[in-house]
Amino acid sequence: MSAITREDLLEWDQSDPLGPMRAQFHIPANTVYLDGNSLGPMPRTTAGRVSQVLEEEWGEDLIRSWNKHGWMELPQRCGRKIAGLIGAAANEVVVADSTSVNLFKLLAAALRLQTERKVILSDSGNFPTDLYVAQGLIDLLDKGHELKLVAPDEILGAIDDQVAVVMLTQTDYRSGRIHKMNEVTAKAHSAGALMLWDLAHSAGAFPVDLRGAGADFAVGCGYKYLNGGPGAPAFLFVAERLQDQVRPPLSGWMGHEAPFLFDQDYRPADGISRNLCGTPAVLSMSALDAGLDVIGNAGMSAIREKSVRMTSLFIDLVETHCADFGFELFSPRDPETRGSQVSFSHTQGYPIMAALIDQDVIGDFRAPDILRFGFTPLYLRYADIWDAVETLRDIMTSGSWDQPKFHKRLAVT
Ligand SMILES: *Cc1c(COP(=O)(O)O)cnc(C)c1O
Repeated sequence: MSAITREDLLEWDQSDPLGPMRAQFHIPANTVYLDGNSLGPMPRTTAGRVSQVLEEEWGEDLIRSWNKHGWMELPQRCGRKIAGLIGAAANEVVVADSTSVNLFKLLAAALRLQTERKVILSDSGNFPTDLYVAQGLIDLLDKGHELKLVAPDEILGAIDDQVAVVMLTQTDYRSGRIHKMNEVTAKAHSAGALMLWDLAHSAGAFPVDLRGAGADFAVGCGYKYLNGGPGAPAFLFVAERLQDQVRPPLSGWMGHEAPFLFDQDYRPADGISRNLCGTPAVLSMSALDAGLDVIGNAGMSAIREKSVRMTSLFIDLVETHCADFGFELFSPRDPETRGSQVSFSHTQGYPIMAALIDQDVIGDFRAPDILRFGFTPLYLRYADIWDAVETLRDIMTSGSWDQPKFHKRLAVT
């Protein structure tokens, strides 16, 4: 048994500088929510903000709201708030579309800057949508590009003078392993390649320093650690030095230099805004904006400090309290290279996770055998982690996970 007791953890919670943040979220009673890495919970201010946009702005002010309530600037306004979380300058980020679509836009833009090279380099642990988008773009371009995949720890060695773009998800969605952003970006640049980062499980999870690393392009997700709500718009980053070289593949009117001149010819806007395509999704972007204000007040270094303490605690408790049940740590043991999630593999991972969720301990399952737990310091308490591990232990001790209803696969895991 670990030496730590539940009473110790209640004390940790008492002296936790982020403790008061929990009151800013709606967390269902008796629920330990370990899936904020996949869908962040609802900030309390969000419902009010969205209903204000509905009732007052849309309802009363109608189309005047584009000017009167700043709807038109939402992509840049939200972008500025995200920039502060990922080490970007205020004019280097906009919010638009989904992560998948933004990846398409920036990967296409990057390939257009690299006319002589044909290789997109990524790793075999990358999230499928990233790989699918690259495959679809290669097919569309029909210029002999190739998607080359290597194991995550072989990336540095695989960057050579054939590579046009290194396209990586910084935090592995299954294991939580973090790529070394500075080192990989520097290697890409020394080989003449461009660097595109997917920050889906990084933004809002720990401090990211895109400028410090010298990154060229990045995309990321609004509904995970940024708590923007289901299907929230995503963001994209283009380094200032490249912004006016980018030729957007989706050359819509919102990225035009002067959309309301209704010119017949496309002329890209200056700066980051040329990466917009169509009309912003005002309702969902307003919800994201409310979420960004909450995380913006917390500070990424305080979040990271608590996150490391939480993930380390969870590993310690599972390995001591559930030592006999066959869980294998699937995440890096070194907190330096671990994001804000912990995964364990187990041959019965699916029904065990279903049984946990049935007890309101909510994590998720990733094929083939991974139980994934996200730790989000804004609203989780140390004692919650204790309770989650005790629930897991009860499920394993009693064998209650092995009921037919927990073996039935749902559409979304
Ligand atoms: C969650 C996630 C996405 C999500 O893409 P959507 O377009 O929002 O569906 C993309 N990439 C990575 C690495 C992710 O983790």
